Amino acid sequence: AKRNGRGAWRFFDSSAQKRIDHRERLEAIVVDALANEGFTIALQPICSVTKQEHVGFEVLARLFHDGIFVPPDQFIPVAEEQGHIPAIGRLVLEKSFAFFGEMKNHGLHPGRLAVNVSPAQFREPGFAEEVQDLLFRYCIAPTDLVLEITETALIGRSKELVEKTLCRLRAMGISISLDDFGTGFSSLSHLRDFSVDEIKVDKSFVQDLEASAGDRALIKGLVELAHCLDLSVVAEGVETLAQFEYVRDLGVDFAQGFFHARPLSPREAEEFLSQSQTS
Ligand code: C2E
Ligand code: CA
Ligand code: CA
Ligand code: CA
Repeated sequence: AKRNGRGAWRFFDSSAQKRIDHRERLEAIVVDALANEGFTIALQPICSVTKQEHVGFEVLARLFHDGIFVPPDQFIPVAEEQGHIPAIGRLVLEKSFAFFGEMKNHGLHPGRLAVNVSPAQFREPGFAEEVQDLLFRYCIAPTDLVLEITETALIGRSKELVEKTLCRLRAMGISISLDDFGTGFSSLSHLRDFSVDEIKVDKSFVQDLEASAGDRALIKGLVELAHCLDLSVVAEGVETLAQFEYVRDLGVDFAQGFFHARPLSPREAEEFLSQSQTS
């Protein structure tokens, strides 16, 4: 592993052995972080496109090792592979709920919290019950929680178990968002076969909106389809005013991205809320 310019871990290995070394090192970092409070969260504001109002945050796991930022795209897959995801997922939920409670105590309205759930975590027996217990313990209303799952969580074995977990969570009042929609093992049949509340259009489709008439048509079609099915649509990775105007004109309901705000530390997120919510 090497530091790149922005102080993040960068892996430019070529050989398989090096990759294994990196994986082992990353796993050691994850284990250490779990034992020593190395994980924190970042919160990225989500806003309604029509009213331009804050509606909530997406919670993103953050891991710093020796002061160096380790990107989730690197540690999440390793953690998933090595069975550490349930522990990390639980930690992120607890930190999210603690943040939510603190904001309320300070008279602020954080809106809904959207928390990422990895496929392995979602498929754990008792996941729905665990979420319910945590909500209860932190005195959080289920309607204040959105769980973001990817389509990978839906496919594979035991469709019944997945659908049961989805129904349980939604019966409690929790919303389910289908993350990274349009990438990977995406299929329109997922929208028909599984009960979800929202789709999150992947940032790869937002990035090229200005140049690509195809991507514009795709988002337009997705929005129409989603609205017919009574689902709302979030666009992620909205970086520029032009991209924001496109997603707005294409009928997207919610937007998230650097154009509005970067992922914020809990302290910055509180500052963000108090600036917009106190007069
Ligand atoms: P994601 O769920 O698709 O999260 C959105 C990613 O886009 C985040 O990257 C966020 O920082 C980044 N982003 C936000 N706005 C913009 C923008 O305007 N432009 C661009 N280019 N990027 C933007 P991050 O924080 O590095 O997370 C990467 C992925 O790691 C997430 O993708 C998610 O799949 C995973 N992840 C993060 N936190 C958790 C977690 O607590 N649990 C699980 N299971 N996965 C997580
Ligand atoms: Ca997400
Ligand atoms: Ca996403
Ligand atoms: Ca993504």
